[in-house]
Parts: sequence; C-alpha cells; structure tokens
Amino acid sequence: MHPDQSATRHELVDGRIAGLDELSPRPLQLGFVPHASLPRRLGRSGVITTPHGTIKTPAFVAVGTKATVKAVLPESIAALGAQAVLANAFHLYLQPGADIIEAAGGLGRFMNWPGPTFTDSGGFQVMSLGVGFKKILAMNTDGLEDDDVIATGKTRLAQVDEDGVTFTSHLDGSQHRFTPEISMQIQHRLGADILFAFDECTTLMNTRSYQERSVARTQRWAARCLAEHLRLTRERAQPYQAVFAVVQGAQFEDLRRQAARDLVSLRTEGSGFDGYGIGGALEKDNLGTIVRWVCEELPENKARHLLGISEPDDVFIAIENGVDTFDCVSPSRVARNAAVYSARGRFNVNAAPSRRNFAPIDENCDCYTCAHYTQAYLHHLFKAREMVASTLCTIHNERFVVRLVDDIRASIQAGSFFDFKMDFLGRYYASS
Ligand SMILES: [Zn+2]
Repeated sequence: MHPDQSATRHELVDGRIAGLDELSPRPLQLGFVPHASLPRRLGRSGVITTPHGTIKTPAFVAVGTKATVKAVLPESIAALGAQAVLANAFHLYLQPGADIIEAAGGLGRFMNWPGPTFTDSGGFQVMSLGVGFKKILAMNTDGLEDDDVIATGKTRLAQVDEDGVTFTSHLDGSQHRFTPEISMQIQHRLGADILFAFDECTTLMNTRSYQERSVARTQRWAARCLAEHLRLTRERAQPYQAVFAVVQGAQFEDLRRQAARDLVSLRTEGSGFDGYGIGGALEKDNLGTIVRWVCEELPENKARHLLGISEPDDVFIAIENGVDTFDCVSPSRVARNAAVYSARGRFNVNAAPSRRNFAPIDENCDCYTCAHYTQAYLHHLFKAREMVASTLCTIHNERFVVRLVDDIRASIQAGSFFDFKMDFLGRYYASS
C-alpha cells in the first residue's frame, strides 16, 4: 500500500466512533502545507490540519447537507475512508436550528462524526429560492437585459439587497433574513471546522453588468463576514473555526481573477481568510479553465475548496487545476436512483443486465457492498422499493470517489498523475 493511502479510518469503540472526544490542541489558524505538486500545473497534494484531525489533500468531502449523508450511517462514511463531511447552514438553520446543534456540542458530536467538518454558508440555497436555478438554466435568454427573471411558474422566494437576503422558508412559508453577520453567527454555533463566507451566488444567465455588481457586493459581504468571524472567535473561545472566502465571477476571466485578488488582499485587524472557495455556476466545459484562473491568483499556502462538482471525471480537471478539497452530492444522489460508478463507467443497477448478474457492482472495488452483495440482489431491492438499496449503493459510490481521490493523491506524489488520469478516463469512457 502506498503510504499515503493509509488515510485515517475511524474505529468503533463501544458503539461510538473513536476519537470523537479527542480535540487537537487549539491551533491559531487552519494549517495547510503543500507536499507535492504537478509539473507546470497548479495541482498539488498536501495536508490540512483542523481541530478534529487532518485532511490529506486532494480530498473528497462527503456531503451531509442536513447533518447526515443520506441513507448511510456516519460509521459507514468513516469506514469507507471519507475524511470530512460538509453540511449546510441554511438547512440546519431551518431544521433543527443552530441552537440545538450548539447545545449538542456542535455538528460533529450531534451527528456522531469525529472528523473534520465544513458548513456551506447557505448562500447558494438562499439564492436558489430566488430564481428556481434548474429551470432558469434551460431558458432562452437571448437579448435578455433584465436580471429579474425567474422560472415560469416559480414564485420568487428570496430578495437580495445590499445588506443581505430576505427569504421565505420552503418548509413552512415563514420569513427569514440572512446577512453576512447572521450567516457567521449561525455557522459558529453549528461548530464546523471550516466555514464559508456568505456570498451572492449568481447563475450563468445573469447579465455581465449584474455579475459585476454582484462580485462587488460579495466582496463587501466578505469583509463583513471576516470582521464578524474575528469578533465571534474572540468571544466564543471554541476550538478554532476557519473561514474561507468564496470567489465568484461566473464565466468571466477578469471578474474571477479580480475577485480572487481582492479577497486575498482583504485584511481585518491584520487577519485574512484561512482559505478560499470557488463558487458559482460552473459547467463541465469551463470547469478547469475557471478553476485555473482563480487558483493562479490564490496564495500557495492556503487551502482551496471547490463548492460542488458533478461527476468522477470532473475530479481530475479540478485537482489538476489546483483544487485541494471539493464536495460532491452526486455519489449519494445518483445512488438513490440506482446509478452506480464502476471503473468502466456509470450504469444503472436496476436495468435489465443486472437482473441475473451475480457479480458485485465492480469486481475491483473494496467497499462493503461489493464484498457482500450482488448486482442481482441490488436490482431486486430497487424493484421492490426497499430502502436498503439506497444505503448499499451510496456506500459503493462514496467509496468509489474516496478511493479515486486517494489514488489521485498517490499519483501526484509518485509523479504519475497524467498516466493515471489517461488510464482511468480511458477505461471509464471505453464503453460509452
Ligand atoms: Zn463497491
């Protein structure tokens, strides 16, 4: 085994995951040390140090939006080698409320996850209420001047102003308001190791002039987040929580680069951001280019997180262009619809070929599901609408991505990244 593949796996002791009570000494800041990098590329491997343990990068961060990775136990997520979990401040604010999670001892303790945690600021979810994201992206906007467009049949549930965003809860119709300060207060109470500054998330459909105004507003919000974060850090005396700024700017190179430079130079009382997130609308075709623009402007000694990625092959592009950590909801989301990853590409285990296939999803996979269950059984579970089908397929897909990123990390350190990439993608797309 490559030494780097000994990524932390948490052991169960008396039904709880070992290490839950073992906080590292309180660091003064989030540590990131780059160890190896790709020749003539921005991609690198390194280690992020948090109060709840280290993250060997590049790393996949499992998405646990509502303090759970849907359909699987945190013990399973730990056992399959995931190093960190990302929850969402917007969802947890609405249900169960930041006060409950704070009283439980923070996100990790609340959900029985001993490792590092992230919380997304909720900006994306709040803004999504405003425009009905998915539908608007399919609209024809030729000649569209007005940014105040919403998808047909959707009611605008969020209003952005200079100070923040007012929105209507999708759960009960109640009115709420997020400002940069409120987002920081919520995230501090949720208690994750890495927080994100509250940003305005635009779509590719917004006009250039709106993107310019939005990036400038996100910059002003970032300054307010940093100031509030420093105030809360002094006031609360918790294990250190790090805050990442989010670089927006859609598909415009000058806006992306300027946004990154402005956020890097931002200082309050001598302190800057602990790392940077790359947010906003990214399409498969421009993912690598946008990540490269941003990472070229970011300092080498700070961690970079890509907010949301779609498919396993995108992982190579993101990492090659400088991303250290990324979250991805796809492995669990598609698993619940019977789509599973394999070295030979993605397929649906509820389709006819799996009905009498008594082999595992992937012969070379080392996950719990592939060790114990056949495609025929999984096929049956989906047809019978049994819930454990989602559990077993999520375990496989999450392990698939964790292992892929472990292998990428090892290949960066061994100097064989490009060979590994060619080999993996060649097989992954061979049958499509
Ligand atoms: Zn498997």
